[in-house]
Amino acid sequence: MEIFVRPGDSFWYYSQVFNLPFQLILDSNRNLNAQTLMPNQPVQIPGYVTSQYTVQRGDTVWSIAQRINMPMDALFLLNPVLNPYVLQVGLRLRLPVRVTWRVVNGEQDYDYRTMVQDIRSLQAIYPFIANKPIGNSVLEKEIPGLTIGNGQKRVHFNASFHANEWITTSVVMTFLNDYLLSLTNNGAIRGLYTLPLYNQTNLNIVPMVNPDGVDLVLNGPPEDETIRNKLIEWNGGSTDFSGWKANINGVDLNDQFPAEWERERERNPKTPGPRDYGGQSPLSEPESIAMADLTVERDFARVLAFHTQGQVIYWGFMGLEPPETEHLVNEFARVSGYEPVQTIESYAGYKDWFIQDWRRPGFTVELGLGTNPLPISQFGEIYEEALGIFLSALYM
Ligand SMILES: [Zn+2]
Repeated sequence: MEIFVRPGDSFWYYSQVFNLPFQLILDSNRNLNAQTLMPNQPVQIPGYVTSQYTVQRGDTVWSIAQRINMPMDALFLLNPVLNPYVLQVGLRLRLPVRVTWRVVNGEQDYDYRTMVQDIRSLQAIYPFIANKPIGNSVLEKEIPGLTIGNGQKRVHFNASFHANEWITTSVVMTFLNDYLLSLTNNGAIRGLYTLPLYNQTNLNIVPMVNPDGVDLVLNGPPEDETIRNKLIEWNGGSTDFSGWKANINGVDLNDQFPAEWERERERNPKTPGPRDYGGQSPLSEPESIAMADLTVERDFARVLAFHTQGQVIYWGFMGLEPPETEHLVNEFARVSGYEPVQTIESYAGYKDWFIQDWRRPGFTVELGLGTNPLPISQFGEIYEEALGIFLSALYM
């Protein structure tokens, strides 16, 4: 919601009028200098939208403000021409409406387009989120990278490295929405107030690492006949892509990282296909390159990669994980009921590379139980299991 500065206004005053944390107003207006606000400058107020109201006989500014449970000055801020003494019947006013509902509906086939629309809606209501795309997919889809929080501890979540694990995107996007809702409503999730998390952490989220793959699973192959025929051939002649994990080049993005890549290659297919082909060389694909570049640039304290399925959390790599990892994974296990697993015979994954090169905690979280793609009917249950992990990754 946008308002316009009047002489004497300040961000601190707006935080009182709209009952919002000061920091969220500050972070929603990074282009402005809080010390030198100029009259008529537009200011973004997070967590609100506006509605239209037509003045009725008998209304006063006071009675309208009472009805919507806001200070009268909120009405003056939203309606600069409003005359406090004469309220004309039929006059159309903008009223502030506090957002207390989710805009993300995670319980649906969650393709790239749905995600992009949801990110746009969230950014409009919560301008303190930043979206800096991390790169483009093979088919030139921009891969969003969202950042939220004003703290020092840099935490990273990613989802949908694997195409037919797209439910991880809808789960992560729903968490983001719930986190934002709790922040602007001075609220808590599972009894935990979230504003301290916002002030202590900087959460980076890549909600869909593999957009081409996700759209292949959900919407079928692209129109282009050359690509289409090649994909069907790699898919063993089938037009059913529900078993597809790779990107659109038939490369498994989570077998692409320079952490014992050759060893992983030994056990895996040597040609493109639905899963497990690690490419001609490590980091040959634009999506994995983008993830590697992001990770180098942002210097994360810990990373969590969300996959399906198995209800397990992998937390080690060749004994290189630092000691605090075990402490963290035990908390993740406690709040989710998932089983911690230190190592398996698997290499070249994103979390493997992160542990190897940074010696910091990295996790692969396998959400839910069943056969991929997990049915969307499991969404509610998976979300409840994942929620504790999301929160503890921030508060621990
Ligand atoms: Zn996976």
